Amino acid sequence: MGLIVGLEEKLPSGFLLTTVEKLAGYMRKNSLWPATFGLACCAIEMMAAGAGRYDLARFGMEVFRASPRQADLMIVAGRVSNKMAPVVRQIYDQMAAPKWTIAMGACASSGGMFNNYAIVQGVDHIIPVYIYLPGCPPRPEMLMDAILKLHEQIGNEKLGPNREKIIKEVEAAALAAKPTHQLKGLLA
Ligand code: SF4
Repeated sequence: MGLIVGLEEKLPSGFLLTTVEKLAGYMRKNSLWPATFGLACCAIEMMAAGAGRYDLARFGMEVFRASPRQADLMIVAGRVSNKMAPVVRQIYDQMAAPKWTIAMGACASSGGMFNNYAIVQGVDHIIPVYIYLPGCPPRPEMLMDAILKLHEQIGNEKLGPNREKIIKEVEAAALAAKPTHQLKGLLA
């Protein structure tokens, strides 16, 4: 089965071999459709990434969908208020599986400067996060870089028993990690 168009014609045998995992990863990473979904100032940068100057379309990943049923990438662009958290979760649940997420900016990743009762201190409290994108706000180039890095992750994702093994390893590592209340940061 040929993965690179034209390459198979140059090989003497006329075909390429690959694994189901690699083929699925290749197709998934090249058909990411983000949900149209912005929460705060970071969303302006996300919109700029899709507009003419930065032109996300160059990478074939600009098809923002208004319905979560047609999207498989959630870019959480901005701070998540406690009031908005159930809505974010509902949109995530309505998206087609397999699905991926990017926490765009300091607020979505950790609450940012809003260390208060109204803001969720990191969207990973309500949905799984695949990429944390730093910055306040991150520039459109940074968002593109994050999506390309996510492409790499998706391309190497495992399936079946291999996937279950990795999930168990990640879970064990998370359980062994230091609890966040014991971490010391700038404000501690
Ligand atoms: S990270 Fe900065 S730009 Fe992004 S939502 Fe928070 S305050 Fe706004």
